[in-house]
Amino acid sequence: MPDRSLYDLIRDAGVVGAGGAGFPTHIKFARSPVETLIANGAECEPLIHKDKELMKRFGAQVISGLALTSEWLSSKNLIIGIKAKNRAEVDSLKTSADGRVKFCLMKDIYPAGDEFILVYEATGKLIPPGGIPLEIGCVVVNVETLYNISHAAEGVPVTEKIITISGAVKTPATFMVPIGTAYADCIVLAGGATVGNYAVLSGGAMMGELVTDMSTPVTKTTAGLIVLPVEHQQVVRRSLPPKAVKRIGASCCDQCYRCTELCPRWLLGYQIVPHEVMRSLLFAGGERQKFFSNYSLLCIECNICSLYACPEDLDPKNICTWSKRELFASGVRPDKSRAVKANPMRDGRQVPTKLLTRRLGLAPYDRDAPYTEIEFAPERVRIPLKQHAGSAAVPVVQVGQAVTKGQLVGDIYGDNLGAKVHASISGIVEAVDSFITIRRK
Ligand code: SF4
Ligand code: SF4
Repeated sequence: MPDRSLYDLIRDAGVVGAGGAGFPTHIKFARSPVETLIANGAECEPLIHKDKELMKRFGAQVISGLALTSEWLSSKNLIIGIKAKNRAEVDSLKTSADGRVKFCLMKDIYPAGDEFILVYEATGKLIPPGGIPLEIGCVVVNVETLYNISHAAEGVPVTEKIITISGAVKTPATFMVPIGTAYADCIVLAGGATVGNYAVLSGGAMMGELVTDMSTPVTKTTAGLIVLPVEHQQVVRRSLPPKAVKRIGASCCDQCYRCTELCPRWLLGYQIVPHEVMRSLLFAGGERQKFFSNYSLLCIECNICSLYACPEDLDPKNICTWSKRELFASGVRPDKSRAVKANPMRDGRQVPTKLLTRRLGLAPYDRDAPYTEIEFAPERVRIPLKQHAGSAAVPVVQVGQAVTKGQLVGDIYGDNLGAKVHASISGIVEAVDSFITIRRK
């Protein structure tokens, strides 16, 4: 390992949280010691298997990243959260892990990978409302982030992303692709789409976003692409305009309470109460833009309420999300001092992934997506300068300049929250705007 601090190496390599919003990892590591380090391998989105494949194939690198991180954070407890059904992946990790590493074997439920749920399952502790794991002595790091940390320690920056391509494709698979690769190129790698008109759920069927522009590039946080025909129920549902979602929600919610009873955060004891938020929409009227309820503040947008719980096919998740954003924008914050206690009914109300997959209409696409080794450099990559939380990176290359894979193309300055960006292929810089476009040499 080069003679520099892990903090600097991670910052220079542009490592960000690979499992979520792309929070720059070096910022997470600015405080030490941290008693408990938890590796998040509890991937739970239906049809997305990239963490499972990564742990099976690159278990040694994941454990190496875990060991380096635990040393840096002086952590006493090392826990890997992983689904109990993933025996081969547990075995792969155990081959490299020493006796300090404990495994938290989790049920195959959604959303097992939610940070609050994982911390509770691994330690029995609950994070304060609106808080972060550090407040109870924990840091949670996704297994792909640990893999990237092991490379950062060797001076290798983040230029590739492991993603699963599944759904209506000929050969579902998991690949390592250069960051900035267009979705269209990724779909070709999986044998191409098996339907004519399709859209993509990027990141998953529950928390991912609907994408129809196949020139969209893979970023450091893209977990996978689920290709679906445009007439699929999940594509149609996501295409409804917000005005219609509010109008239908205001006129059809019968206050049955099911969305709340199955909300995973409510079951953990947090004050997120979607049926109450729906009630505020009823009072505001569907046509009005302004409605809000403090019961929305702790929503994690997991979509259980909308896509699994609601018998009327309403959209409490989006209603909670819009309400929460309005409240946050006006300065309202959750009450951190409120006591939290898990609901005794929680165990019986968790949502099995298999059942969820069926409910989403994805069972016909529920196939293996094994890791497939490829040598792949696309003709062109478009690398976003902002693919992480915080400020966009500042370009440090010019149009016409030759760059080599791994070269810095976007930098961060001072203590700004952000992450460095590197060339993912060797070639010539074609454009510099909010992306760095590189044409292969
Ligand atoms: S999306 Fe729905 S189920 Fe998920 S946290 Fe928000 S209110 Fe609860
Ligand atoms: S589950 Fe649907 S109908 Fe029932 S309270 Fe929630 S939003 Fe209303």
